[in-house]
Amino acid sequence: MELPKHADLSTEEKNAKVRISNEDSSPYEQFYHWPFETILKYTKTFPTPPPKNWTSQLGHENWDPRYDGYCDWAIPFQPEDPFGGMMRIMQTQMIYGAFSKEDLVYPEIQIKKLFAAPFERALTERSKSKEHLRLQSKIFVLKYSLTPFITSYDEEWEDRLTDKKVRAWRLISCYGETNLDTLHDRILGPAMGWCRHFHTYKYIVPTNGACFGPGTSEAIDKMHAMTSYTLDSSKYQLAHLLREPGQRLVYIYDLGDTWTHNLELVQVANRGDLLEMPCDDQVQNALIKEYNGELPKIKGVQLFAGELNCAPENSDGCGGMGNYGHLLKKGKKHISPEATRSPNWKDHKIKNAFKFDLDAHRKRLAEAIAGKSSAKTGQKMCNMMLQPDSHRFLNQQTRPGERVHEKCVGSLKTGCVPMSETIKIRPDKENEAVCAACGRQPNVQAGFKPLLRCGSCKAAWYCGKSCQHSDWKNHKDKCVKMRKERKEYKKEVASCDDQKVLATRCSR
Ligand SMILES: [Zn+2]
Ligand SMILES: [Zn+2]
Repeated sequence: MELPKHADLSTEEKNAKVRISNEDSSPYEQFYHWPFETILKYTKTFPTPPPKNWTSQLGHENWDPRYDGYCDWAIPFQPEDPFGGMMRIMQTQMIYGAFSKEDLVYPEIQIKKLFAAPFERALTERSKSKEHLRLQSKIFVLKYSLTPFITSYDEEWEDRLTDKKVRAWRLISCYGETNLDTLHDRILGPAMGWCRHFHTYKYIVPTNGACFGPGTSEAIDKMHAMTSYTLDSSKYQLAHLLREPGQRLVYIYDLGDTWTHNLELVQVANRGDLLEMPCDDQVQNALIKEYNGELPKIKGVQLFAGELNCAPENSDGCGGMGNYGHLLKKGKKHISPEATRSPNWKDHKIKNAFKFDLDAHRKRLAEAIAGKSSAKTGQKMCNMMLQPDSHRFLNQQTRPGERVHEKCVGSLKTGCVPMSETIKIRPDKENEAVCAACGRQPNVQAGFKPLLRCGSCKAAWYCGKSCQHSDWKNHKDKCVKMRKERKEYKKEVASCDDQKVLATRCSR
C-alpha cells in the first residue's frame, strides 16, 4: 500500500491542521503549521529511497535503511530527537492528553492520525473485498529475519545488510486470517526465540510507514511509545497487509531495543500444497539439509528452517547491535556468560548464538499454538528490589482466571532478580482462540466456520475433527490440566457475582 494520495482525502482532511495549544511554546517543524494536503505534497518531494550517499544529516528521517522503507507514518521529519521529545512531553503534559482543557492530544499524535485516516479507510474497503476473503483461508509462507548489524549510518551498514552469514532467519507459515496481535504473541516470538509476553511490539508497512500495535500493553518498554500512534493490531489480519509474494512487513520487537525484523511473503498456498523452494541461497541450503530435497507439505503454522539463535533480550537492540554483533564476531565457539543469563537465552538454555536448535524452536511454537493466548496486561516484568517485597505491589490487579506468577530470573553476579507476570488460567475467548493443531483463526464475521471447543476441557479449540484427532496425543495430558483451570475460573466468576466486588476486578 502506497502513501495516501491527494485524491483520497476529503475536503475536510485536505484542510485539516495540527492544533498546537497557545500555551505550548515548544519549537515545531514548519510543516506542523500547514494544512494536511500541503504536508502530503511535501512528503512526496523527498527523494525516496534516499540517494546512495545518504546520511542522516540530509534529513530523511522518514526512511529507515535497516528495512528499506518509510517509518512512523512517513512524516517528513521527526520534530525533535527522542530525548528532546521526551522532555517536551514532560513539560507539556498539562496542556495535552488527559489534562488538556482544550481536548488536545499531542501534536505528534495529531499529525500521525492525519496520515492514518485515509489508510484506515483503504483497509476497511479491503476487508470487504473478495480478494481479502480468499486470502484469509490461504497459508502464507514467510521469510522472517532479524535485520543484522547497523552500527552507523555510513557505508558500513550497506555491507552488513548483505552479509548473509550474520542473518538470524526463519522460514515460517501461518494463515492469512491470523490477526497481527496473535502473530506477535504465538508465532513470531516463539519462532525467533524471544520470550513470550515480555516486551511490546510494532508493525510497520514499509511502503507507507503505517504502524500497528497492541491496543493495551503493560510492557516495560511501552513508555517508548508515548508519541507513537498505532492502529490496533488485534483488529487487522496478515492478509490486510500482505497479498502477493515479494511484499514485506516490518516487525519491531521491544520498543526500547527496537529489534527490527523483515517479514517477506514468499508463497501463498492452500493447505496440503508442497512448500516451494524460495529463491534465497541460504534458505535453499538449509531446506535441502533439513528435508533432503523433498520439501514438506504446508499444513498451517509451521517452522521449516532457520539459522542462528536470536539476540539475547535486553542487549542493546538493532540500533547498536553491540552485544549481539560482538557475540557473533567472536565466532562459533564463544560462550558469553552475560548473554547466557539474558531472559530468553536462560529460559531456552541457549549458550551460543550459532548453535541453533530447530526442534526446540518448533516445540515452543507448537506449545504457543496449543496453549492459551497471553493475558493482555501484566507482561513479564523484572521488579527492582527497592525494598523488601516492593515488587509484590506491581501487577496485582488481576481478573477472574488470572494469576500473578513470580519467579526468580537468576543472575550470577546479583543473585535473584524477581520477575512477575500475569498468567491466564481462563480459556481463550472465541476471538482470542486459534486451532490448537494448525493455528487457524477464522474470521467468523466474514462467514468462516467458528472453531469448536474440546468437549472435555472446553478450553482447547479446533477448526475441525481432523485437527482434533491429529492433536489428541499432544492434548491428552493438557486436557486434564485445562479442565481443572476452567473449573477454577468458573468458581472465581461465580464468587465475583456473589460478592459483587470491585467492578474493574471482576469485569470480563
Ligand atoms: Zn486446525
Ligand atoms: Zn481438552
